[in-house]
Amino acid sequence: MKMFSFSNEPLDTATLQRELRDDRCGGFAAFEGWVRNHNEGHAVTRLEYEAFAELAEKEGARIVQAATEKFGVQRAACVHRIGSLAIGEVAVWVGVSAAHRDEAFRACRFIIDEVKHRVPIWKKEHYVNGDSGWVNCERCAAPSEHEHEHHHHGNADIPAPDYSRQIALREVGVAGQARLRAASVLVVGAGGLGVPVLQYLAGAGVGRLGIVDGDRLEPSNLHRQTWYALADCGREKAALAAGRVRALNPEVRVDAQALRIDAGNAERLVQGYDLVLDCSDNFSTKFLLNDVALRTGKPVLFASVYQYEGQLQLVSGQAGSPCLRCVWPEATRDGLVGNCAEAGVLGPVPGVFGSLQALEALKYLLGLPGLAANEMLIFDLVTLSTQRLRARRAPDCVAHQRTGAPVVAAGDEDLESQFGSLAEAAAAGFTLVDVRDSQERLTEPMAVASIHLPMSKLLAQAASLDPGTRYLLVCATGRRSGAAADLLRSQGFHDCRSLRGGLKGLKSIA
Ligand SMILES: [Zn+2]
Repeated sequence: MKMFSFSNEPLDTATLQRELRDDRCGGFAAFEGWVRNHNEGHAVTRLEYEAFAELAEKEGARIVQAATEKFGVQRAACVHRIGSLAIGEVAVWVGVSAAHRDEAFRACRFIIDEVKHRVPIWKKEHYVNGDSGWVNCERCAAPSEHEHEHHHHGNADIPAPDYSRQIALREVGVAGQARLRAASVLVVGAGGLGVPVLQYLAGAGVGRLGIVDGDRLEPSNLHRQTWYALADCGREKAALAAGRVRALNPEVRVDAQALRIDAGNAERLVQGYDLVLDCSDNFSTKFLLNDVALRTGKPVLFASVYQYEGQLQLVSGQAGSPCLRCVWPEATRDGLVGNCAEAGVLGPVPGVFGSLQALEALKYLLGLPGLAANEMLIFDLVTLSTQRLRARRAPDCVAHQRTGAPVVAAGDEDLESQFGSLAEAAAAGFTLVDVRDSQERLTEPMAVASIHLPMSKLLAQAASLDPGTRYLLVCATGRRSGAAADLLRSQGFHDCRSLRGGLKGLKSIA
């Protein structure tokens, strides 16, 4: 008896079982897969199986051979039906004879799981309404609205996706894999961040991925967007990324939109997704997605990269949780966000943050602990220092005010100090630290001597500060300096404070 074979005829399981009889064996385990009358909400009338027989038989035999060695069983075989099957027929049969029951059960389970994953067999379902569809292949074959060029028809040379290496994790398992398959994620931006994000989410088997990107690939993108090729330059990234996702994992449904997200289409685009990932490189998109999150309650996971550092922040969209504008009210050009085209970047930097973003997204979908909705992760890839900051729900946040959400009081009163003037603060023994960027300092100079340490340099240059000194951090509104003071305190600068209301607050007092 062949270890793995196909049959055009109904299976005679009694005969198959007899062929595996062995006097050395005390146990026999069998599995039968039957044709059932429904699948994914459709009433099924009959099935057709097709296989690329030569390749499938080789792969099937390898699996059965591996099972006999791995579990030390005496004899094992698997037979799969091809052709047309009626409801109730046996579609696949696995039998294992072993000295004891335990290895027989385990080898049997191993064989059917591996056959499901690895053997190229296609199933066509015929439905009550007269329709029919290729299962496992149909998902990938259905072209999206805007992407027709990679119409995939299920080439039998291509093996099926195999998630066994992540299913093996206790935190994932078969149930977690099903959750990922049922999940949908919209990825805004298919560039430096979006490439690793899409690669890992597609690889993990997230059921549906949306891609929004209005740009075309340029040669200068490739040092960080290494999924693409020089020959692809000039083509729309949305279409390129969709093709790459399909090649990586045909089970993933892709909806690619070659357009720029804007106020007119944002709410429509995020509709129907469980989670949105901001992989854009510009402020307008980030703040737009932030405001959509607050309006719709749709969670958005932001990643931003500036030269050698970047940050992650999850905006839950819930009224009491902080948002991007709570932390970065001025939509500054400085801070930890910037544009790769202007500031320059080493390719792996967005690669690291895109990977982290993908990881956080998977953890979010799997319900694992991760980045909370009230914190930011800041990672400096020069010094390799990471910080988790508390993000504060700012009482005067314009985005929150627009939603009419109730204000939740920000805690930690002693982190901020109020003064009538900068001179007063200096007289009280504070050394002033200006965390604004150079442009802001030129436009509005400080009236009193100060150290200049812009937000973007804070992590790298904090070592130049003295933990014993009383620092008062100053910015335009007190928001950035508040986050900076929080950060410095976590690094041991216990006497460091932020000027409440910033320079703007001083003016309103004067
Ligand atoms: Zn806010």
